[in-house]
Amino acid sequence: TSVIYLAHPHEFPVVGEHFAAKTNKDFNPVLKDGEILVRNLVFSLDPYMRGKMRDASKASYSAAFEIGKPLDARGVAEVIESKNSKYPVGSIIHAFVGWEEYTVLPDLPTTRIIPDARESKLPLSSYVGVLGMPGLTAYASLKDIGKPKAGETIFISAASGAVGQLAGQLAKAWGLTTIGSAGSDEKVDYLLKEVGFDHAFNYKKRSTHEALKELAPKGIDIYFENVGGETLEAALDHLNTHGRIIACGMISQYNTRQPYGVKNLMNVVSKRLTIRGFIVADFHEQYFEDFYRDVKALLVNKKIVYRVDEAKGVAAAPEAFVGMLNGKNFGKQVVHVADL
Ligand code: NDP
Repeated sequence: TSVIYLAHPHEFPVVGEHFAAKTNKDFNPVLKDGEILVRNLVFSLDPYMRGKMRDASKASYSAAFEIGKPLDARGVAEVIESKNSKYPVGSIIHAFVGWEEYTVLPDLPTTRIIPDARESKLPLSSYVGVLGMPGLTAYASLKDIGKPKAGETIFISAASGAVGQLAGQLAKAWGLTTIGSAGSDEKVDYLLKEVGFDHAFNYKKRSTHEALKELAPKGIDIYFENVGGETLEAALDHLNTHGRIIACGMISQYNTRQPYGVKNLMNVVSKRLTIRGFIVADFHEQYFEDFYRDVKALLVNKKIVYRVDEAKGVAAAPEAFVGMLNGKNFGKQVVHVADL
């Protein structure tokens, strides 16, 4: 079974119209030199994939999905047939795989063996979550753009998600006061009781503006931006002079034809704010090693928690993807395909 990309959505993607699971009973690949056949174990669903659901003529940082082909994702997989000596049968790899059970992979620079995947006892989803792309996003952007100093205050939107929950714990460990927003009371409870945020609120129940007024009476120094729109507008009003905005994502704007017009950008000038965007790949070379060592140690020593939301089976992936764009996910969204 593979999930096939069918058509470009303009707003939220619709299962069956824009993508759908299809089973191919005749799948019986013959490998060419350099190729491997992998059995996918888990793959990641991420907001950036919404940006790949577009006409290929519109350039962006990541290639568009191809109509009629399986969608792809970062995944963890076991090599079950190999015509490439770099990846012997039995190795566990991190690679761009299809939203499917089995994928034939050419020799790509993005494929790498996870040497301790079997021994580490960490859930395999860790390698696409807290120790993978979203984890590096949180760690590197917080350091490089946030430039956090102990005693400062940070506000993180989409705080219970893949990036937000780690960003909050790192910021706290580095001596900051942390404020998070999320879209349900259960998520807020999780942020306060398990993740260790100093403050958290449900932005669907109270305005971000009012919440920041109460929870950050001295203003915020860093805004970790995951949401955009009204949330950004509220943060701009509460940032202190020389504040930093880590422009990570603006998910409230991904599925709408009517972008929100932020009305108070003049704050950037008057408060000398820094607002800087990034794509996580920018940080790979400089930060990956430090990130992996530091965050893995925190994880192994149970100094951080990391909640994962697992959809079961390839056929559940499209629904889970739309759910993730809508906030139905509670924690990092992945698809569990098979046990190791
Ligand atoms: P999450 O796990 O946080 O999932 C997305 C969450 O966004 C949902 O759970 C929902 O949580 C929230 N959300 C959805 N719609 C809205 C809305 N209209 N208003 C407010 N919140 C909303 O995803 P990630 O942690 O993977 O990604 C978070 C952000 O980081 C995204 O913007 C993504 O694009 C960006 N990103 C950027 C990268 C880069 O390289 N620049 C790399 C990785 C991620 P809730 O219930 O709280 O509303």
